[in-house]
Amino acid sequence: MSDCLFCKIIAGEIPSSKVYEDDQYFAFNDINPQAPTHFLVVAKKHIDKVSSMNEGDRALIGGLFDVAARICREKSVTDYRLVINNGEGVGQTVFHIHLHVLAGRSMNWPPG
Ligand code: 5GP
Ligand code: ZN
Repeated sequence: MSDCLFCKIIAGEIPSSKVYEDDQYFAFNDINPQAPTHFLVVAKKHIDKVSSMNEGDRALIGGLFDVAARICREKSVTDYRLVINNGEGVGQTVFHIHLHVLAGRSMNWPPG
């Protein structure tokens, strides 16, 4: 999608601190980290939010978790929080599905 920030990051049109890339996925450090480790995992396919994905996207979106777990394993990070915001009302600001991976500090539950 031409006006999507994360599509531009995936395409390399906007620079990012890349953590991982393969043919379907891209991961990069969050520009405004909320924990010592805070990166985002996205599928290269543009889907704006979880509530608009369809059955055909299940495996692709499920794979975000696999990529996150693989990166964390490589970094020897064992405990981490995975977050996907769906909708402006809960804080989604970029409308290209992304999995937040946060680690390296203690965290409260429930989240704010
Ligand atoms: P959301 O609030 O949509 O769940 O998360 C969007 C995330 O994208 C935020 O944590 C924000 O800091 C991050 N972000 C916004 N713009 C950029 C950018 O240009 N580069 C990077 N690396 N992260 C960004
Ligand atoms: Zn996009």
